[in-house]
Amino acid sequence: MSKDYYKILGVEKNASQDEIKKAFRKLAHEHHPDKQGGNDAKFKEANEAYSVLGDEKKRQQYDTFGSAGPNMGGGGFNANDFGGFDFSGFSQGGFGGSGVEFDLGDMFGDIFGGGRQRQKRGADISIDVDLSFKESIFGIEKTVVLNKTSVCADCHGNGAKKGSKMRTCSSCAGKGKVTELKRSIIGSFQTVRTCETCHGSGSIPEEKCGSCHGSGVLKKNQEIKVKIPAGIEDGEMVRLTGAGEAISGGVSGDLYIKIHVSEHSVWTKEGVNLVTQLDVKLSDALLGTTYELETLDGKVDLKIPEGVSFGEILRIKGKGVPSGRGRGDAMVKINITMPRRLSKDTKKAIEALKNEGI
Ligand SMILES: [Zn+2]
Ligand SMILES: [Zn+2]
Repeated sequence: MSKDYYKILGVEKNASQDEIKKAFRKLAHEHHPDKQGGNDAKFKEANEAYSVLGDEKKRQQYDTFGSAGPNMGGGGFNANDFGGFDFSGFSQGGFGGSGVEFDLGDMFGDIFGGGRQRQKRGADISIDVDLSFKESIFGIEKTVVLNKTSVCADCHGNGAKKGSKMRTCSSCAGKGKVTELKRSIIGSFQTVRTCETCHGSGSIPEEKCGSCHGSGVLKKNQEIKVKIPAGIEDGEMVRLTGAGEAISGGVSGDLYIKIHVSEHSVWTKEGVNLVTQLDVKLSDALLGTTYELETLDGKVDLKIPEGVSFGEILRIKGKGVPSGRGRGDAMVKINITMPRRLSKDTKKAIEALKNEGI
């Protein structure tokens, strides 16, 4: 499953922003890759965790949609292209400056700043999920199983055997980048690319993780829990940042879930309201009565007022679609059914009504 950011920072789920900040600083100093015994993977992991938990809004999203890891960079996706929910908003190095007091420039410069190079990114995955009408109204948590390349759970993607020491990558001498001299007719020029041996981290484990053979990723069936919000529309897209294909030495792609909502036999949705039509007998419309009606919340007794007219809308408060401001209403449009044929006696009775002026 996805990373537990609270665990990474070693804080409780209800930790205050202060505690989170403190925990992150401690880890950042401890693991900073420029330091003797620093650990780049751990440092990045702490960074990633803090970029989410250190931001109330992102933290809330993470708490709610827990399975989504943030996209740490370079995705190049514009969430506005999708009608759905964007859980990302994490730009490269996007710590927003909020609440981080020490010098970010120095600290992150080496890791994020230096390169205009695009970080490797796993492929996006898109899947379809079918919902019943009721599920779409109230929201639901769906579990999907995907066979995909995932971050190795044993080494958390750093490719190291548990407890293994990290040593400086010999291919790049710990720089994470390799400079090459290329010759062409107009002269020779230098190109810089990410080191393939260490994937740019500058260090490699002395012993490789046995599960993923050091790649940090492996193909497996992964269960992903997707929280579908209440009131989702047919055709809407839910995006889980980081739940796509993982890639060795890069960030995971995103998972796009296209929602299909089946129609209900009785109710349709209009904004925050649920709408239906109810056939009422002529005599019931004239005299008034109670009809039993099946709402999405179960059966209700709907009072048909005396003399209700054709097309009148009866409102059942608070039985509509949940929204940020409570629930909408269920609206029942009255249709009065006329008798096709009248018996002799009925005709007589109605003629009597007619004489009364009805
Ligand atoms: Zn592994
Ligand atoms: Zn290297």
